[in-house]
Amino acid sequence: MKTNSYDVVIVGNGALGLSLALTLLKRKLRVALVGESHKPWAASTAAGAMLGCFGEVTSTLLKSQPGRLKHELAVRATALWDEWLHELNDISGVDDDLRVADGTIVINNTVGYSNLDDANFEAIRHSLVEYNEPFEDMDPSEVKWLKADSLSRPTKAMYIPKEHAVNSLKLLQKLESAFISLGGTLIAESGVKIDSNAGRVHALVLQSGERIISNKIVLAAGVKSQDLLDTVPDVAERIPRLVSGYGVSALVSTEGMPTLNNVIRTPNRAFACGLHVLPRSEGEVYIGATNVISPKAVDTPLIDDVIFLLECAHRQLRKDLATNGRITKLQVGNRPVSLDGFPLLGETDLNGLWIMTGTYRDGLTLSPYLSREMAKLICGEAADSDLEMFKPVRSPIQPLTREEVIQEAVEHMLATGYESDWRIPSGWHHHIEHNFFTEYENFAKNLDPVYTPPADLLVASTNNRSIMKILYKYYSAVKQFETV
Ligand SMILES: Cc1cc2nc3c(=O)[nH]c(=O)nc-3n(C[C@H](O)[C@H](O)[C@H](O)COP(=O)(O)OP(=O)(O)OC[C@H]3O[C@@H](n4cnc5c(N)ncnc54)[C@H](O)[C@@H]3O)c2cc1C
Repeated sequence: MKTNSYDVVIVGNGALGLSLALTLLKRKLRVALVGESHKPWAASTAAGAMLGCFGEVTSTLLKSQPGRLKHELAVRATALWDEWLHELNDISGVDDDLRVADGTIVINNTVGYSNLDDANFEAIRHSLVEYNEPFEDMDPSEVKWLKADSLSRPTKAMYIPKEHAVNSLKLLQKLESAFISLGGTLIAESGVKIDSNAGRVHALVLQSGERIISNKIVLAAGVKSQDLLDTVPDVAERIPRLVSGYGVSALVSTEGMPTLNNVIRTPNRAFACGLHVLPRSEGEVYIGATNVISPKAVDTPLIDDVIFLLECAHRQLRKDLATNGRITKLQVGNRPVSLDGFPLLGETDLNGLWIMTGTYRDGLTLSPYLSREMAKLICGEAADSDLEMFKPVRSPIQPLTREEVIQEAVEHMLATGYESDWRIPSGWHHHIEHNFFTEYENFAKNLDPVYTPPADLLVASTNNRSIMKILYKYYSAVKQFETV
């Protein structure tokens, strides 16, 4: 066998690519993992990383079967983390604890939009009860680390003892060293093109021009998987495209403040994964995260987004963060978001070309589960049949009615306004809500008579013509295939 030929080539060295590479390697396959060592555009490096399963639940998620299934996958993934971390320790021979938080405290504060925040807080509780997952209500004043501004004070809190977080950077390092120690090949370059031969994938062409030969290539390059898919346009046009859920997070040194032991978070709001803070290293916390849908990957933070994040943090978490906290790092990441908002998992129409992305807000949480199930599929074994729903060649998943999407879009926009501390003069509340509603309703009607994008993409496309065009083109292509 030629030295540049492998059983499987994985493109992308984020949490998903690394986890899959290691899982396949443990099955004694020859695996190459391709990706530049500084991981440009990665989501994984900017992530918290909350192993956020119940804390991510929203009332709209639970309304539909695809949403409930996505939550169910997160439940299955969360159950695998203890064993996954043990295995990583065993392989590396170093017994370090990557876990940084002892459970999650979800707070409901006065900041967001009441309909949204209250409903999501209750949806989390409902789901915890349904899954018989331990949790306890707390008096918010018992959450000692919190010292919110009075106008942003929490009114309710609940502790979920089994919902932890890991140090994402250490996790990535540990995955990488485990992969190398078991004999995997790291190729510190970018892939630029997929080559195929007689309807089967044949090689990955690298930036340097070198060709890495394999009849199984997995695209796990996050949002940038789209660039590679576009090198096989006939295949790409049948798969929901990827855009970026660009996000900013910050590492802040907290000298003089009490030690933080848990994740503290709000429910998801303002199209983001809620405001959250969690311990990172000693004397340092992670604060996250913004989320803005962008047509392309972003690599530097917009000042507005930094201001928003930090304002939220010192108002809603601790007043003295502004005066005593020091920013040690600002992080930018690109969540891989498919045009219907759901993951892309499985083989494409081109034999041997696999895709594993579109995980949006919780890809890190899902990584042990998805790598295990994708490895089975790639090896030709039966995997969890629930993944079928997220196969990449599909009609757009439409979990909600158009009215429900528009309602969600309006509520998240109002939550964004309240979180940005707007003050609405009396008599204007109704007008603002009504105008958002009418704008999104008209926009959705003109965009497509049948399909409606998820709420965050709908709002993004009203402000950004590129996203609107991407959606328009995608829906037109889908209809062509549906009539063939
Ligand atoms: C601010 C923020 C906070 C988040 N918080 C959480 C959280 O708390 N919990 C959670 O579960 N999830 C969280 N997420 C989401 C999570 O990070 C993602 O779903 C997940 O990390 C995606 O992993 P990935 O490996 O698919 O992609 P990525 O992490 O994006 O990795 C893709 C990799 O591919 C590489 N690459 C790109 N192009 C090429 C190419 N052409 N050739 C080779 N390599 C290439 C990139 O450099 C990158 O290293 C967060 C995301 C962000 C941005």
